[in-house]
Amino acid sequence: MFEVVEIIDIHCHLTFKEYDADRAQVIADAEKVLRCVVISGVEPEDSTHAIALAAMHEHFIFVTLGLHPIHVSEYTDQDIERYVEFISENKRKIVGIGEIGLDYHWIRDPKKIKRTKEIFVEFLELAKELDLPVVLHLRGTGSEAIEEGLKIVSDEDIKKAVFHCFTGKPLLAEQICKEGYYVSLPAIIARSKSMRKVAKRIPLSLLLTETDAPYLSPVEEERNVPQNVEVVYEEISRQRKSDVETVEEAIENNFARLFGVALR
Ligand SMILES: [Zn+2]
Repeated sequence: MFEVVEIIDIHCHLTFKEYDADRAQVIADAEKVLRCVVISGVEPEDSTHAIALAAMHEHFIFVTLGLHPIHVSEYTDQDIERYVEFISENKRKIVGIGEIGLDYHWIRDPKKIKRTKEIFVEFLELAKELDLPVVLHLRGTGSEAIEEGLKIVSDEDIKKAVFHCFTGKPLLAEQICKEGYYVSLPAIIARSKSMRKVAKRIPLSLLLTETDAPYLSPVEEERNVPQNVEVVYEEISRQRKSDVETVEEAIENNFARLFGVALR
């Protein structure tokens, strides 16, 4: 018997230029090891590309569309309005809204921060309107962005959300889970004591696994690829003293529950 492929990468960017030279090969290699991946459009052009790429790999590549906070300042309100329309029109081709959120690592100007928040809320409204889950990018300084983001999504009465590439403290992860939201851990977990604690402490039913490829490779300086998500499964199993099959089954169920996608 051959081994059944069960692992899932819920967040990567196979549309990015880092894969321009060998994208087909990267996807073919990923298909050998993974059950499926979710790619997240970060701005209009990337989103158009993401939809086209997913159409070529049905049942393997799933798509969420959003406006990454670092791209917000590049677009006028009118551009964003058109983009929101584009997303609505493509509702049936996507499984979520994101990535969206706050980024205090790159955005420091108070005016820009204010607008980023407004656009974030606008996309949360869109998610509610389309009845889709949200993929959240909340970064820097310290845990400020994550705490604020958590408050915003819960005030907005968002029911389904995943905190992608969670870098906060274990206590904050527990607060997120109390609200019923998911926490996704990346392959750099191997280098992060705090992430390992998160993997151990939060309910397995709210954990997800990702790479954020091409970024955040478990091997520094190297281009990341979806199959590296395996590291996250191994680490979760180790931390929870559980066998990998149990973790695989749980993550698959979590994925299906969050994104409303049945894999079997
Ligand atoms: Zn991302």
